[in-house]
Amino acid sequence: MPVGDIKAVAKRKVKDKAVKTVKRKVSGGGGGRKSGAKGGKKGMLPIILLILVVVVGAGLAWHFGLLDGFLEGTGDPPPPAVVAVDGQLEMHFIDVGQADGVLIIADNGDTMLIDAGDHRGSGQRLVEYIQGLGITELTYVIGTHPHADHIGGMDIVLNTFSIGTLLIPPVSHTTRVYERMIQAVENHNITTRAPAAGDIINLGGAVFTVIHPGADDDWRNLNDWSVSVHMAFGATSMIVTGDAEHPAEAAMMATGLNLSSDILRVGHHGSRTSTGQEFFEAVDPTIAVIQVGEGNRYNHPHDCVMERLETAGVRIYRNDHHGDIIITSDGTNLDVRTAR
Ligand SMILES: [Zn+2]
Repeated sequence: MPVGDIKAVAKRKVKDKAVKTVKRKVSGGGGGRKSGAKGGKKGMLPIILLILVVVVGAGLAWHFGLLDGFLEGTGDPPPPAVVAVDGQLEMHFIDVGQADGVLIIADNGDTMLIDAGDHRGSGQRLVEYIQGLGITELTYVIGTHPHADHIGGMDIVLNTFSIGTLLIPPVSHTTRVYERMIQAVENHNITTRAPAAGDIINLGGAVFTVIHPGADDDWRNLNDWSVSVHMAFGATSMIVTGDAEHPAEAAMMATGLNLSSDILRVGHHGSRTSTGQEFFEAVDPTIAVIQVGEGNRYNHPHDCVMERLETAGVRIYRNDHHGDIIITSDGTNLDVRTAR
C-alpha cells in the first residue's frame, strides 16, 4: 500500500474515533436523561441543556480539530519519530557519465558509497573525486547489482580505499567487471554481506533502511535485484533504488516500509521501466536527481518519467546538465550545490 494511502487511512481512523467519542458522550448524556426522568419534569431542563452543551461542544471541538491531541493517545501508532541530529550530512551524486555513484558522508565522518561508476574513465573519476575529499576509508560500499555501469569501477574502489563492509545482492554475473570485483574482494579479504529488506544500517546520525530485495526474493531480471535503501537524517530523507524496475518497485511498496523521501535518486537513470506512478506517489519527493550521461544511447531519461516529475513540480537535477551534484542536510533543510 502506498504510504500516501496509509496516511489517508490513519486520518480516516482518527476521524472515525472522533465520531465515536462524540457518540459516546451523546449516549452518556442519554443515560443522564433517563435518570433525570425519574426525578420528574422539574429536573429535566438542566439535563437537556447539559446534553446540548456536551453535543454541540464536542461537535465544535471535532470541527476545529481540538480533539486531535486527545485522540492521538488512543491506539493509532504515532508517525515515524524524527530523531534530532547534530551536524551535517552530505550526499554527493558524482558525475560518472551514464552510470551511478552516490557518496554519503555522515556527520561523524563515516561514509557510504552506493555504486562505483562504469569501468574505464568513469570509475577512475569517481575514485579521484572521493580521494579529492581526503577520504581514505569507506565504511559501507553498496554494489546495487552486477551491471557494469554500477560495479564497473568497483575493483578500483576496493583496491584503493580501506573498506568496512561491501553490500551486494546474492546474485552473480559472468562478466569481466564482476569477476574483477570478486577478485578484489578476495585479495583484500573484504567483509561482504547480502542485505535484505528491513535491515537497518546506521551511518552517524543517518539511518538507512534496506527496502529491497526481500530475504527470499529470486528475480530473473538483474535490475530487479538492485539493493535499495531509504535514508533518514533528522527530518530529511532520500531513496536510492539502483536500476530497480516496476516489479521491484511494487515489491518495495508491498513491504510496508516507509518510502516517503525528500530526495528521489531516480531509478534506472530515468528509464521508463522505473519510477511508476504509484511508486512515485509513495515516495512523493521534492527533489529528483537523475544520474545520466550526455547523449547516452538509451535516450535516458525518458519523456514519460520527466513529465511525471515535472507535473508534480519536483526540482530536477541531472549529472549531464549540472555535473557533480552535492546536497547537504542539516536534519531540517536541504541545500543543493552543482558543479555547473
Ligand atoms: Zn544502470
